[in-house]
Formats: sequence, C-alpha cells, structure tokens
Amino acid sequence: MASKNSIDQTVCTDKNCPIHGSLSTRGSVKKGLVRSKKLASMAVVEIPILSKVKKYERSAKRRSRIHVHVPSCLNVKEGDDVEISECKKISKTKSFVVTKVL
Ligand SMILES: [Zn+2]
Repeated sequence: MASKNSIDQTVCTDKNCPIHGSLSTRGSVKKGLVRSKKLASMAVVEIPILSKVKKYERSAKRRSRIHVHVPSCLNVKEGDDVEISECKKISKTKSFVVTKVL
C-alpha cells in the first residue's frame, strides 16, 4: 500500500487535479476536517460555521458537510485537516477539490 502511494505521488494522471491536471479553481477556499474517506477519489469534509443568534445575542456552532474530490496524488486520511477550493462541477455532488493537506 505504501509503495502504491509513492507511485501515485510521482505520476499523477488525474485530469481533475489542480496541480497536474487541467482543473482550475476559483471561488471560495475553505479549511475543514476529513470526516469520511471511503472512496478513492472522494471525501466528506466538515466545515465549522460560527453563526450569530440574534435573539440570544450569542453565537451557535453549526457545521456543513461538503463532498470533495481527492486527486490521486494526495494522500488524504480520515481525521486530516485539509484546504479545499471551489472548482467546476465534477459530479452531481462534487464541486470542491482538495488542494492541500495541512
Ligand atoms: Zn496531481
């Protein structure tokens, strides 16, 4: 498994890779935590949101879960902090791509 990852890092054939492929990123850049990594090219990233509740004059913690594309050259595991960036729609639910593992 470790040797396979090192091969992936040297040769990246993913066309939806922001570094090696033709995918350009634009729009919002967010930081979040990888909550689920069950498929090879997809992850679920949780983004914390601090929203103000006007009625009680306090802030409430909310969270948003986003489906993101994982390029084959990045080794992303569950529990990792990642930086994600908006891109064109890759599939029905994916319009974000992982750009960095923090
Ligand atoms: Zn790549």
